[in-house]
Amino acid sequence: MSDPMTRSRRAAKDNGAPAVDEQRIQAAVREILLAVGEDPDREGLRETPARVGRMYAELFAGVHKDPRIYLKKTFTQKYDEMVLVKDIGFDSMCEHHLLPFMGKAHIAYLPNGKIVGLSKLARVVEVLSRRPQVQERMTEELADSLMDELDARGVGVILEATHTCMTIRGIRKANSLCTTSAMRGSFQTNQSSRAELMALIYGSR
Ligand SMILES: [Zn+2]
Repeated sequence: MSDPMTRSRRAAKDNGAPAVDEQRIQAAVREILLAVGEDPDREGLRETPARVGRMYAELFAGVHKDPRIYLKKTFTQKYDEMVLVKDIGFDSMCEHHLLPFMGKAHIAYLPNGKIVGLSKLARVVEVLSRRPQVQERMTEELADSLMDELDARGVGVILEATHTCMTIRGIRKANSLCTTSAMRGSFQTNQSSRAELMALIYGSR
């Protein structure tokens, strides 16, 4: 497994996306420090704007990328049972507060003669998580990308995440977990497909 930094650099190359303007972030972070009454020139803070600039370049590396490019290469395979990848970890940034939310994605599809490399599902999650995001939209975009690109008979996506905008500020509910799901095709219309999916994801817990 490569580290997230290497992963996002490689993804940027694959996708030819424009880079985040780190200089501009640096200037803005310096402004924030001044605005909260800090001295951005004191020793401990001197490097902070540059550090935050690099960090945001990493955290928002998915802004101009199209996650669907990872689903273009498919393989013809006669396999009609469910494909499920559980526990794909992700870290994203809540677009309402610019605070991280992190959790796991579970992605299932029912192929229609086409399958995709399993690691590509994790790539799609990575691109969608590296941008200002809301969990609900991320869930739906994952489901729709797979449904369209794979011509799948069904797609089921479940995301579970902890939102630091709920745990460290505001209502401060430390252990709250937000679950979202998007069901398409047979997972939406066929209750036994959906029940099978839920049993596979949650059954062993
Ligand atoms: Zn938030």
